[in-house]
Amino acid sequence: MDRAVQETDYDAFSCKVSAIAKHYLPRQVSGKEKEEGEFVQLHMAYAQGLKSVSRRAYSKVDRAVQSAQPVMNYGTYLRSVAIDEAIACFLKEHVKSGAEAPVQVVNLGCGSDLRMTQMLSQVPHLKWLDLDFKESVALKSRILENNPLFQRELGPSESVETAGYLTNRYCLTSCDLNDIAQVAEILKKFTTQDCPTLVLSECVLCYMKSAESKALINCIESFYKMGTWISYDPIGGDDSADKFGKIMQTNLRESRHLEMPTLMVYNSPEKYAQRFNTAPHSTSIVTMWQYYVQSVPDEEKMRLKTLQFLDEIEELEIILSHYILAEASWR
Ligand code: SAM
Repeated sequence: MDRAVQETDYDAFSCKVSAIAKHYLPRQVSGKEKEEGEFVQLHMAYAQGLKSVSRRAYSKVDRAVQSAQPVMNYGTYLRSVAIDEAIACFLKEHVKSGAEAPVQVVNLGCGSDLRMTQMLSQVPHLKWLDLDFKESVALKSRILENNPLFQRELGPSESVETAGYLTNRYCLTSCDLNDIAQVAEILKKFTTQDCPTLVLSECVLCYMKSAESKALINCIESFYKMGTWISYDPIGGDDSADKFGKIMQTNLRESRHLEMPTLMVYNSPEKYAQRFNTAPHSTSIVTMWQYYVQSVPDEEKMRLKTLQFLDEIEELEIILSHYILAEASWR
């Protein structure tokens, strides 16, 4: 099961590569052309790195990129842009220009996510902790270490462990999120309790059992004095006529031996909010469909429409209505 869960990272990465190849990502913002170019370069460098360290993983990614449908590319665009915006909003609130007060990000189940690279170079007092299973960390750290582009952006690793990456601002280390004692020890070792902290879980809580994910949330919310948790996940749907979650569970079980134990537990935005101890007062949730309708500017919507032919807008609405972005804050 752990291996099947680890391999979901190849899906996440291939979705990003596909969205880049079809020009959904990066989002077009005037004046940000340099960052957009770097975003593409970093992902292409990582894909090449993956090819040289694991042919097997690379061919999985490559196959998935070939078969990506327009609805998936829309989903990846929205997921990526909505999370980036939420992170930018947190940083805007906590990083005052000229101030030297540190902020930190803890990325749970980081997989191949490369956000840390650009964020660390843009925000001087930011520290970033990436956590994932041992095997995923070993793969990611080899790719980062082998490539001069990542070396230049992150600085050379001082890690004495074979698997991991460590600089004075970036730490990639292995951690089983189901093991709360290990999580607590790592947070204590690599992060600061009273520093504004953003916790990111992007398609991670959905693979954990209910008790374990609850313990993880309790541990983190009680450890940091002040924090914001950004979580992106699928939800099963709470309408009795809604078959989305059940079909997704069956498909994942049959094709991948993969479980999403809480898909039908936290199956609506309201129920998902209850994962966090801050709910309901400081938790906001949007479905990706709401985000698309309300927050994507018209010119971006027009640009997306020109990229690939999408005939099934109803299908897009159904899919996007079953993915949420939650933001829970505590202090
Ligand atoms: N967050 C990344 C992204 O969105 O690009 C990766 C998402 S991938 C779907 C899920 C990731 O969570 C995988 O890398 C997997 O190894 C990690 N993960 C899931 N459960 C975990 C656990 N108990 N401990 C550590 N990592 C875990």
